[in-house]
Amino acid sequence: MSVELSVVVPVYNEEESVPELYRRLTEVLSGTVRSYEIVLVDDGSRDRSWALIKDLAARDARVKGVSFSRNFGHQMAFTAGLDHVEGDAVVIMDADLQDPPELIPELVARWREGYDVAYAVRAKREGETFFKLVTAAVFYRLLQRVTNVSIPVDTGDFRLMSRKAADAFRRLSEHHRFTRGMVSWLGFRQIGVPYLRAARHAGETKYPLGKMLRLASDGITSFSYLPLQLASWLGVVVCAAAVVALAAVLILKATGSTLAWTWVAASGLALLGGIQLIAVGLLGEYVGRVFDEVRGRPLYLVQETVGMIGGQRSAPPPITV
Ligand code: UDP
Ligand code: MG
Repeated sequence: MSVELSVVVPVYNEEESVPELYRRLTEVLSGTVRSYEIVLVDDGSRDRSWALIKDLAARDARVKGVSFSRNFGHQMAFTAGLDHVEGDAVVIMDADLQDPPELIPELVARWREGYDVAYAVRAKREGETFFKLVTAAVFYRLLQRVTNVSIPVDTGDFRLMSRKAADAFRRLSEHHRFTRGMVSWLGFRQIGVPYLRAARHAGETKYPLGKMLRLASDGITSFSYLPLQLASWLGVVVCAAAVVALAAVLILKATGSTLAWTWVAASGLALLGGIQLIAVGLLGEYVGRVFDEVRGRPLYLVQETVGMIGGQRSAPPPITV
């Protein structure tokens, strides 16, 4: 029997949330669609998450599991999930119940109306730290300004994709993945659905500052060349400033000023050195990513699957729209 809706959930040390996630998902899904599957992607958890997933899969044939050989990250887990599902539509969401399963019927309704992507927009967020709220708000607005693809603000990865959009997404093979931007890039018919983002069900965030910054820089470098262009603009500004400074120095010299010229020159050089290093660093961000693409390693490695009959879907066919 064909599967109408697949739900993909990355799981990283979420033993406290998995049972409740399963309970709420099954409750909502059974009343929403004809048939469904839940694909839980274990991203190298070190707690009992994978044992719980295997246990659920043994009891319920609609639950399937993929386990990575190590921690490859949230974004790769979405990718692996999309590679293993067969639904006519796919929902991707977090395991910690910050993305409420109860919104799925609304996403499905938009899909039935003919939309290819229904993304959940965070109208309000509960239980987040002040720091997270501020950095997220600033980041989404910065991203909106610098990118050449229109990525909706205050929108995470929680969304529904039609089979057509999911297959198109699977053809994007980049290693540094920023799912919400990549889905925006696809185009098709997309619509936002507002919701209240709940607090984490249990446990702590699995996105420490380092991972958050990496995701943010993947988002910017994947969709904008602005940081590279910044170096040219800074160069123009510094050159103009240097011309003005030179003129000022000559005038002061002619009037016999006794300013400490060596200090002025040394601090000017240090400023310039700093600007150059920042520009090289930004360049490095892009060069490193190019290197990752050229090496062409697989995006992720699977250690084990449960409940899968077909395993990984074959590569999606070329798009015909
Ligand atoms: N996650 C993952 N791999 C990671 C980090 C997180 O699969 O390396 C999963 C995590 O289990 C959760 C989702 O990604 O389902 C979002 O993580 P989290 O809720 O910790 O992020 P936050 O909501 O705090 O930004
Ligand atoms: Mg969360």
